[in-house]
Amino acid sequence: MIEFLPLGGAGEIGANCYYLNLDGIGVILDCGMHPQKTGLHSLPKFDLLEDRPTDYVLISHAHQDHLNALPFLIKKFPHLKIITTPQTRAVAELTLHNAISILKRQVKKNEFEVYSRDEVDLLIKSINYKPINEKFILNSKEEIEAEFYDAGHIIGSAGILIHYRNKKIFYTGDINLSAQTILSGANLPTGKIDLLITETTYGATDSSRLNVWQKEVERFASSINKVINKGGSVLIPVFALGKLQEMLATIWLQMQRNNITKVDIYTGGIGNKINRIYDYNRFVVKRNEKDLVLHDVPHKDLKTLPDFEELFKFPSIVLASSGMMIESTNSFMLAKQFLQKKDFAIFTVGYMDPSTPGSIIANAKKGDKIQLTERDRKTEIKCEIRNFRFSAHSKREELLSIINTLKSDNIVLVHGDLEAIDWMGASILKNYPQKKVFAAGLGKAIMFD
Ligand SMILES: [Zn+2]
Repeated sequence: MIEFLPLGGAGEIGANCYYLNLDGIGVILDCGMHPQKTGLHSLPKFDLLEDRPTDYVLISHAHQDHLNALPFLIKKFPHLKIITTPQTRAVAELTLHNAISILKRQVKKNEFEVYSRDEVDLLIKSINYKPINEKFILNSKEEIEAEFYDAGHIIGSAGILIHYRNKKIFYTGDINLSAQTILSGANLPTGKIDLLITETTYGATDSSRLNVWQKEVERFASSINKVINKGGSVLIPVFALGKLQEMLATIWLQMQRNNITKVDIYTGGIGNKINRIYDYNRFVVKRNEKDLVLHDVPHKDLKTLPDFEELFKFPSIVLASSGMMIESTNSFMLAKQFLQKKDFAIFTVGYMDPSTPGSIIANAKKGDKIQLTERDRKTEIKCEIRNFRFSAHSKREELLSIINTLKSDNIVLVHGDLEAIDWMGASILKNYPQKKVFAAGLGKAIMFD
């Protein structure tokens, strides 16, 4: 009997964490923190594990919503064996350290103890790492093996295949079948999968709104030039892990081909350290543009500016995190200034959670009056706003093609809002009425033979 129990990331893109009980062996898939919540509410429901066996944690990739609750889980269950790819381990070392100061600011006293730098160092040392496409034994007595498959989402990202006796379980993590500028797209396991746990991020998004990457690069380049040639600067909010590297590579390659005018590029924060992990691994992971070294791309750190006013004196391109312009981050503070400047522009390049300032900006246009947070005044937008879709996730038709390829009779839908899960569920059943489709529910166990 296999028990599947969502501890988070059910019916939303939140604290992704899923538990599998394989006849007494407990395997946890991912251990994320909810990006829009703080304190205890941002963690997966670890108390559901208290009476259940726990043995292994497998991490699909190092994004906050898949990784950052891991130190809290290990505090509760120090015996757990952690396994991920070498690149995810390298990124985790940077991002978990980086998260400490942010957490300390957010968490109220006594709510829970934030982990220390020493604890992160110990945790990282204890992480076992296995390369992509190398089967490894989890538990030989119970015949449990696992294997990582390139998920094409960010550096080190993996889908997780678990072999349990004669059954195969595949968890997609965040998966992208199509190529980006650097990453070249996911690989899937061959043969029939018995239980598929799949993400559904773009299940509610009409794919005609998601342009082919290369076409989007052309539209992006010419739109940047229009702003620069009028003397303006462009603000591009990005996630420090994944989107920054893809956008920096895209902009630099387009500058070299004279499709974007050469102006200063600004980046900042932890993203520049993550660039090095992309660089060091460029011949190790499956990717495009292996000769492109991000560290060598001429770009300046926002930290070196005496103040942001400098950005308004000369045309420039600013890649600032956070990707969803969450309050008090660089991109949020810059956006407030950019919104007031005629001839300047904000270009969004990725998914925006509906509750974020990023979503308010992405859904507005010049002349609209918007209010970013409860604390902000309603102000009129003077800059230009354009939205680009450089997706690191599969389109919904691609998600359906995964189901077709893996021929799984049992499918659990995770990591998507309710509308996304509805579309996916209805579409699967329309094509394959005999399949069993489950929408993951927080704390609701699903049993499989
Ligand atoms: Zn992700």
